[in-house]
Amino acid sequence: MSSDKQDTVKTICPYCGVGCGIQVSQGDEPGDVQFMPWGDAPVNEGRVCIKGGAATEVVDHEDRLTDPLIRDDDGEFREATWEEAYEYIVSELERIRDEYGPDAMGFFGSSKTMNEENYLLQKLARRYGTNNVDNCTRMCHASTVWALRTSLGAGAMTNSMRDLREAADVFWIQGANPGEQHPIANSQYFRQAVLEGATVIQVDPHANKTTRSFQIDDTDRHQHLQLNPGTDIPLLNIVLKTILEHHADHPEDGWVDEAFVEERTEGFDHLKATLEEFDKEAAAEECGVALAAIELAAEKYATADNAAIFTGMGMSQHACGVDNVQNEINLALITGNLGRPGTGVNPLRGQNNVQGTCDVGAMPNVLPGYQLVDDDAARESVEDVWGFEVPDEPGLTNVEISYEAGDSVKGLYVMGENPVMSEPDANSVAERLADLEFMVVQDIFMTETAEYANVILPATTWAERGGTVTNTDRRVQRMRGVGKVHENTRHDREILTEVGTRLFEEGFDFENPEEIFEELRQVCPSYHGMTYDLLGEEGLHWPCYELGDEGDPFLYEDEFDTESGLGHIEGVEHTPPAETPDDEYPLILTTARLEEHYNTGTMSTRSPTLNRQTPENFVDVHPDDAARYGIEDGEYVKLRSRRGEITLEAHVTEDTKEGVVWTTPHFAAASANKLTNHVLDDRAKIPEYKAAAAEIEVD
Ligand code: SF4
Repeated sequence: MSSDKQDTVKTICPYCGVGCGIQVSQGDEPGDVQFMPWGDAPVNEGRVCIKGGAATEVVDHEDRLTDPLIRDDDGEFREATWEEAYEYIVSELERIRDEYGPDAMGFFGSSKTMNEENYLLQKLARRYGTNNVDNCTRMCHASTVWALRTSLGAGAMTNSMRDLREAADVFWIQGANPGEQHPIANSQYFRQAVLEGATVIQVDPHANKTTRSFQIDDTDRHQHLQLNPGTDIPLLNIVLKTILEHHADHPEDGWVDEAFVEERTEGFDHLKATLEEFDKEAAAEECGVALAAIELAAEKYATADNAAIFTGMGMSQHACGVDNVQNEINLALITGNLGRPGTGVNPLRGQNNVQGTCDVGAMPNVLPGYQLVDDDAARESVEDVWGFEVPDEPGLTNVEISYEAGDSVKGLYVMGENPVMSEPDANSVAERLADLEFMVVQDIFMTETAEYANVILPATTWAERGGTVTNTDRRVQRMRGVGKVHENTRHDREILTEVGTRLFEEGFDFENPEEIFEELRQVCPSYHGMTYDLLGEEGLHWPCYELGDEGDPFLYEDEFDTESGLGHIEGVEHTPPAETPDDEYPLILTTARLEEHYNTGTMSTRSPTLNRQTPENFVDVHPDDAARYGIEDGEYVKLRSRRGEITLEAHVTEDTKEGVVWTTPHFAAASANKLTNHVLDDRAKIPEYKAAAAEIEVD
């Protein structure tokens, strides 16, 4: 049994970024792994949502990979020894580097794995000689991270769930759905604030569990602005212009915080110039929302003592994702809603370690701590600890790596990711991965991506191993394992240390996760003041620059972490989605996740409890569209885009707008990403999952 073995451990839920604490106990048999509540867990005080409560169901699932697999010459997988697998991997990695150079390899980290593991993976890539390393945040919040990092300083929530719950008067929730995606944050923090008087402005094309949890029904207090997909910039520009107009006539009301703008920001004139000719009436028509409703929402935000913005993938997953989030930053900056409790711009992160995976540098343009690879001083400070040179040009993102597969990219190392399901235009991704010369996948189950691999390595699950994860409000917390359920599986970190040591002899010889964390904190300034002992059971919010720092629940109290120390305002103009409806594809397809499922469904669709809730994909169709296409509620339909077709059940509902069809990415049998569009944001390279042209017909 592994040295991680303990009978009952306090750990963190493996699903969303809220970071709820749970306990896991192991009975007499290794596979007898059970969920137990952790009553005084720091984030959730014992409460969990349906996913957290069912999390242990996949640990001893019959589909677990239990032995290494190698694809033989006949194309079939056969069981192999670890020794064979390691020898094969190392010889192929060396061959590809010798024949094509290090940039012919790509490395995918995973936000489902821990900080130590992603740290090792990105170090392995850089020691190999490439910055072609990325993780699935590319698909969820790369644009948010870009906008927040460049305009405020850190690609993370500015505030914490706790201070938002205690101090926010207005929650502006745009393109996020905490009622569904972050259920405990919603019920334990945001809903409590609302019960005590806070107001909710929800901006979303779809009515959802957030709408229902706050009973938003266009009363005077709460509002749901049900905009057309891809019109977030014009809607926010109406809000911004309304605030500027009111301030021009009534400066005494303080809708614009002049002192804050003067002392702590730059770029206000650019925003004013951008909005000078902006036509609010025309924009409201484009958004599909009454102008008066948007103006009312603007007033509520601007007159709140403390207004907080929540932003989600409805904002980030557009070809204009960086601009979308920049406009939220503009709103917070001109009204002075940053740098104190109950305010800020707060991305709610989807996976339990999506924040940490970026923090530790599993991205092509940054090293641990978001230090740019092309910043000589930053790079050299990391090289001093690592003892080798790091390439000084940003590498390819994961979406770019997949699209280069078979061309400039010859090999791929995948840890816990499933690009064949998670990337847009998935049919194309599968075709390209099939063209690779070599791919290794380490995972807990056979995935749609692993089917194209040459080597598959059986990893342990979240419940079997230790390490740290960083939740959505920058709280670094320890995970602990009960030990291996299947003796021949290996922890991700064990696999990476073995591969690294065989390839390079030095730099990968770590006995346990704490040793890895000790090196990580040396090269990651915001983690520098953390140790496993100091993290304890409560965890710490980064930044912690020195040992003994208590961490910062909210950022930017005195200055922003930009070069000038100022918050960057920049006006943005509307860029419509790359595909808009036409005669052939007359509907807008948009996608989102469900509370009871998780991303590509690798774990959640194998959980009996979760699968009972929703066993297959479906598409929401507005009643007027259903009547037009002759679709009955519950009938199976074909949904098509220019890239593919899926068959799924139609739900006829007013939750979606007329002209908009809404579906989910979780189910392999009807994967929405066979339809989504590959077009990328220029800067953050995030795909436009949220708007594609589509057509529908009865199956
Ligand atoms: Fe797990 Fe998120 Fe549910 Fe908490 S809210 S139990 S972290 S899925």
